[in-house]
Amino acid sequence: EIAVTVRNVGMDFDGVHAVKNASFDLPKGRFLTILGPSGSGKTTLLRMIAGFQTPSSGEIFINGEAVSAVPPHKRSIGMVFQRLALFPHMTAAENVAFPLKMRRRDARTIPDRVERYLALVRLGGYGGRRIHELSGGQQQRVAIARALVFEPDLLLLDEPLAALDRKLREEMQLEFRRIQRELGVTTINVTHDQREALVVSDDIVVMDQGEIQQKARPIHTYRQPRNAFVANFIGVTNFIAGTVRAVSEMGDVSIFRGDLMLAGKLGDPANPPAEGDKASGAIRAEQIRLAGDAAQLLTLDCVLAGTVTDTIFEGERMVYEVACAAIGDEVIRVFDHDPAAHTQFDIGESVFLGWNARDM
Ligand code: ADP
Ligand code: MG
Repeated sequence: EIAVTVRNVGMDFDGVHAVKNASFDLPKGRFLTILGPSGSGKTTLLRMIAGFQTPSSGEIFINGEAVSAVPPHKRSIGMVFQRLALFPHMTAAENVAFPLKMRRRDARTIPDRVERYLALVRLGGYGGRRIHELSGGQQQRVAIARALVFEPDLLLLDEPLAALDRKLREEMQLEFRRIQRELGVTTINVTHDQREALVVSDDIVVMDQGEIQQKARPIHTYRQPRNAFVANFIGVTNFIAGTVRAVSEMGDVSIFRGDLMLAGKLGDPANPPAEGDKASGAIRAEQIRLAGDAAQLLTLDCVLAGTVTDTIFEGERMVYEVACAAIGDEVIRVFDHDPAAHTQFDIGESVFLGWNARDM
């Protein structure tokens, strides 16, 4: 059952194409994240779904109904934005009760309902607190309870965690995920935080310059990025530019760069390059192995010699930057997650790096 359909939706602001021909389906009960850099059109797309903006083209359906003529307050949507817009002079409970009073729900049922939603966000017993007596994280929780208390069909989140410090942000990401799973409410979350998108979502829509680049499960978005933008935006990816030598029916492709042959899989099998086209091989920093001796990498499909130009200790991993002669001394970044190997190589040392064709 499809909760939201976005079909060929575009939005122009006096010649600025904020959203271009966007289409996706969101099944009921799923958690979708729209991920992209600042200015990529995420908020505009969300505001059209909420009904604050009318698409310049295309159509949006909620529960199968075309909603272009339905105003926001009739769309059964709960929302949380970065600016929480809580009422500071009211208590937490009064804030959560507000949408119920607006909707003229039976006053006798309100206190129970409010307490249930405060408990859901782990603020049971905090109903009497005023907003300024609550921490940033607790205020977030009040805003979530207020968005959900009237049992909307759809929850829309526009970067509500962007202003929080990292620890709290990561805690609240898991809270959003827990609450969403507990209630099963269909959710669309907007963020520029790649990690958040991977952690919280059932599906990720990646946007760039108003266009949807890929819609996929987090693990597919990460492992099978469809194009260079997605590969570069999520994770740390090395690109090696070359010329296409061969493309197979199975989606295997080889690229040459001088004497170096690179074998890999097509990012977008629906859109294969032709022999002779320019193309890049993309390889994640954590999929590359580093060794002092080429013999240790014999089982790998591609092996390059290089010189360590920098070592960056990031706690859980060491980042090695390696300049490789075969690609004009371009630098390849390699992650080593093995603590025993964190001090293995120094700047200036000669090393070999290698990877498997299936990872490129
Ligand atoms: P994001 O949320 O991904 O940062 P937005 O949807 O806010 O991106 O903006 C996408 C593009 O549309 C930007 O270039 C922005 O300047 C432009 N834009 C957004 N809203 C308006 C508006 N009301 N009037 C004119 N331009 C707008
Ligand atoms: Mg935005």
